[in-house]
Amino acid sequence: MKTIDFKVRNDRVAVLTIDLPGRSVNVFTPDFIADLDTAMERVFSDDAIVGAILTSGKKEFIVGADLTELVTRYERGISAAEGSHLFDLENRIMRRMETGGKPVACAINGLALGGGFEIALACHWRVMASDGKAQLGLPEVSVGLLPAGGGTQRLPRLIGIEQAMPMLLQGQPLNPAQALELGLVQALAPQADIVELAAQWVVANPGAQQPWDVKGFKVPGGSGCGTRNMAQCFQFPTSINRRQSAGRMPAPLAILSSVYEGTQLPFDRGLRIEAQYFGQLIADPVARNLMRTLFIRKGEANKLVRRPWDISASKVTRLGVLGAGMMGSGIAYSAALAGIQVVLLDTDQTAAERGRDYSRKLLDKELARGRRSEAQVEEILARIQPTSDFDALTGCELVIEAVFEDREVKAGVIAVAETCLNGDAIIASNTSTLAITSLAARSSRPASFIGMHFFSPVERMPLVEVIMGEQTSPQALARTLDLVAQLKKTPIVVNDGPGFYTTRVFSSYVDEGMQMIADGIKPALIENAARLAAMPVGPLAVVDETSLELRWKVILQARKDDLDDRFAKPAGCRVLERMVQLGRLGRKAGAGFYDYPQDAKKQLWSDIGNEFRQAEKQPPVEELVERLLCIQALTAAQCMAEGVLVNAWEGDLGSILGVGFPAWTGGTLSYIDTLGVCNFVQRCQSLAERHGARFNPPEWLLDKAERNEKLVTTPGLDD
Ligand code: NAD
Repeated sequence: MKTIDFKVRNDRVAVLTIDLPGRSVNVFTPDFIADLDTAMERVFSDDAIVGAILTSGKKEFIVGADLTELVTRYERGISAAEGSHLFDLENRIMRRMETGGKPVACAINGLALGGGFEIALACHWRVMASDGKAQLGLPEVSVGLLPAGGGTQRLPRLIGIEQAMPMLLQGQPLNPAQALELGLVQALAPQADIVELAAQWVVANPGAQQPWDVKGFKVPGGSGCGTRNMAQCFQFPTSINRRQSAGRMPAPLAILSSVYEGTQLPFDRGLRIEAQYFGQLIADPVARNLMRTLFIRKGEANKLVRRPWDISASKVTRLGVLGAGMMGSGIAYSAALAGIQVVLLDTDQTAAERGRDYSRKLLDKELARGRRSEAQVEEILARIQPTSDFDALTGCELVIEAVFEDREVKAGVIAVAETCLNGDAIIASNTSTLAITSLAARSSRPASFIGMHFFSPVERMPLVEVIMGEQTSPQALARTLDLVAQLKKTPIVVNDGPGFYTTRVFSSYVDEGMQMIADGIKPALIENAARLAAMPVGPLAVVDETSLELRWKVILQARKDDLDDRFAKPAGCRVLERMVQLGRLGRKAGAGFYDYPQDAKKQLWSDIGNEFRQAEKQPPVEELVERLLCIQALTAAQCMAEGVLVNAWEGDLGSILGVGFPAWTGGTLSYIDTLGVCNFVQRCQSLAERHGARFNPPEWLLDKAERNEKLVTTPGLDD
């Protein structure tokens, strides 16, 4: 057997140590399944063996299915019926483990996720290492799937539906203490002892059976209509799913149905129910979209696939941050958390200290929640040196500029900073709109100049959009990506252009929202359409947050820079201009598309109809949903056409992680693929006829449609 080391101990207990060759972690592969089948048959057929233990020869136990393999299978085309048989063999082996007549125990030494945890659940007894970082969980829901190795059937039968639901629906892993308390494992022990303990249990329990195979078994806490706290278990999660994803995420509903229906039936029929729901999910594009973008491609981005690997690895030990405002303070906090010394500079000492206080506030919260000790808080804060003295930047390997969005102010601070830095230091700008090449032109070292676009709030937003100026060197890119990895963020790398990628997509969304106001559409309908599309915030609410004035300034700058009408006169700009004239600049000003009363919740501006005429006949909401999603996807396609985006998958990742484009689509460009490029092009052409030339697809996309080509490749299949 290639993947399992099979040894029989003196006490006649077989120890099956799973260790996939050539892989850093154990995952389910066809080889492993075949070996497991062989190994279990040996256990059951050899009278000299009294029972078995499953454990792992790697740091982790088993981390689940090989998602790349699963996505590839899907892309080749799979029906729901075929999908429902995908794990037949695994399920048959697990049933054999349970009913083969010999005790099987599991010694969980590290992470046991997805199928890894399900196989543990199919053992009669589980012991978990208490001294490492072992965790148990069923994260399938986060990639649009359900646990199809019996997870939706064994877990509720083991600990009751009420306790099982959060694990199934939220996918959060549990630590050893939580696992023991819930009854997911029967014992905890130091890692060195778990196999021995499991062996003792096997020897002592020759007649072990799963509770659900004992006659008269009842699900703890009941099932079906008799489930304890029925509303919490089934009704609330259904409405939460509707609210959070506008019902666009099928996995939570499939999980609820599988548990509800399956637990009222005998166990083996429950497994069939689970398999049927799994088949539906795997045949639906949502799961494939989520797996491809948020698991496979995100994983690749985190491994820095865009880094030029001929350049040696680097590490930032001292980071300069220019500007201690909202972004600068967030960047300083994230860097200090990552163990980096930070020089946080602003115009005066008070402003710089205010920037460090941001970290103090966040750390105090962590302290109050018991997540950090006082000593840790002080240690992290001590890494941030607030100052107004540029000389303090001496020795910084990299400096991130985050001062006002003004070319002159930026050029000024960069020029002074450069006089204090070593010749090989990198300068990154956090600008969200100004072209990197134009800022680099004012620097004495354009090859070391790069864009590093963080998102607000920095400590919570995972994406960094790295922007290559025309002269940015591969060294600068490599070192910037190394810093992104140090900060534990996910990078995408794009080329320069007005608004690069994410700001351009984001702007197209808010501009379309404002154009809808110009078209006489009621604001509530616009905001609801965004919610139905599963955008996290409506375009009017979000432009209020980021400031209408800021958007207006960007347009004025585009006019000054002689950019074409797409940037200088975008959709909705007349509404925007009028709002700015009226002083309704957004949340900070206390008024925008919403009113912000001091002692009540914000409300849409009730008098907006007096300023902008509202049409008597309002369009169907689906049309607005289509407009809001298509304009963003089309903008992404334009970025591909213009070479701003190098890879479609980076466009996908950036749109979900940076802009909040709904995850169910897989991202802006996967959305086009999901609709079908030809279909998308036709929709855009029809929108262009009704709403204007901004919906005209670029030649690049027409060409793709003509050749019937997809935009996003599938790893393992197309590249
Ligand atoms: P901010 O107004 O909160 O902070 C800017 C800080 O820069 C202020 O503290 C100011 O005192 C300081 N500053 C100004 N001139 C300076 C000088 N000459 N020397 C030293 N410090 C100086 O702005 P912000 O929201 O943090 O944005 C900063 C940059 O980040 C901008 O380029 C912006 O476009 C970009 N950005 C902002 C966001 C966002 O959501 N706010 C997101 C991504 C990028």
